[in-house]
Amino acid sequence: MDKCPLESAKMLILDNLADVTLDLQSRHDVQTCTSWRAPIIWEGMFNPHHYDQMHKMKGSSVVLTVFAVGRYLEAYLEAFLMSSEHYFMLGLPVSYYVFTDRPENVPNIELGPRRLLKVIEVEKYSRWQDISMMRMKIISDTIESDIRHHYTHVFCFDVDQVFTGRFGPEALGDSVALLHAGYYRSPKELRTYDRNPKSKAYMETGDFYYHAAVFGGTWENVKSLTDSCYKDIMEDKLNNVEALWHDESHLNKYFWLHKPSRILSPEYCWTTNLGYRRDIQVFRLMWASKYYDTLRTS
Ligand code: UDP
Ligand code: MN
Repeated sequence: MDKCPLESAKMLILDNLADVTLDLQSRHDVQTCTSWRAPIIWEGMFNPHHYDQMHKMKGSSVVLTVFAVGRYLEAYLEAFLMSSEHYFMLGLPVSYYVFTDRPENVPNIELGPRRLLKVIEVEKYSRWQDISMMRMKIISDTIESDIRHHYTHVFCFDVDQVFTGRFGPEALGDSVALLHAGYYRSPKELRTYDRNPKSKAYMETGDFYYHAAVFGGTWENVKSLTDSCYKDIMEDKLNNVEALWHDESHLNKYFWLHKPSRILSPEYCWTTNLGYRRDIQVFRLMWASKYYDTLRTS
């Protein structure tokens, strides 16, 4: 049912209020806004309490999707979920949707109030590239059959990371992308877009290089993104090509054609392999160690 006009007007005012309070001038060392006027969220630009209250009033509710297939389950899932319970969207209703080939091995985590965990069994593709890419299809299907009826927002995460600081409702938006820690200061020519004209992910240039380890938005927008990336992945398969960085290449193409409305700085997904930098003022989520040799199947 449509919202009554008063309710819609209230939502619009609340939406605008959210960004009016963002202080784009508070950081002079980094870019805080895109050419299409989407904010890039850095520490110091926002009042956390304001976002907590606003999203509570709006009734926002969040699904976090995470895949732990094959050996990634034992290696990463418990630390990911335990840390998320300390830092991810505290105060809002949150449901974890854990996708795995071995539901019985998902650790039992004690969850905070209004937080749920749902386990969904998925097939284990033999190639790790397919495990990663097929997430797009599975997320889309689950939004359609379930998530759209119960939640406002969806955030999709890689499992090989750990929350170490607040990752709160300031990160919520209609369509949210994350600046890749390795490329946020790189000139366009050094960014690893897919430059093979045979792939649907092909792009000569772009706005930024986004990291597929974190993306999100309203369920409607995440559905469009995952549908589009999946369609392009399948078209590449028919043409016997695979994008350079798999789903990440397709994600970058999608965000080039459909600009995100909100961008997260690399403070939202950092690795100290890149060192400690003055512009990274807080670590909110950190890459876990990667053990590709032992964890990836083929
Ligand atoms: N993944 C998984 N099992 C695998 C390979 C990948 O569960 O065998 C999932 C997992 O959530 C992982 C994500 O797919 O974090 C992306 O793969 P990976 O983290 O290895 O990619 P990278 O971080 O190197 O881009
Ligand atoms: Mn990863």
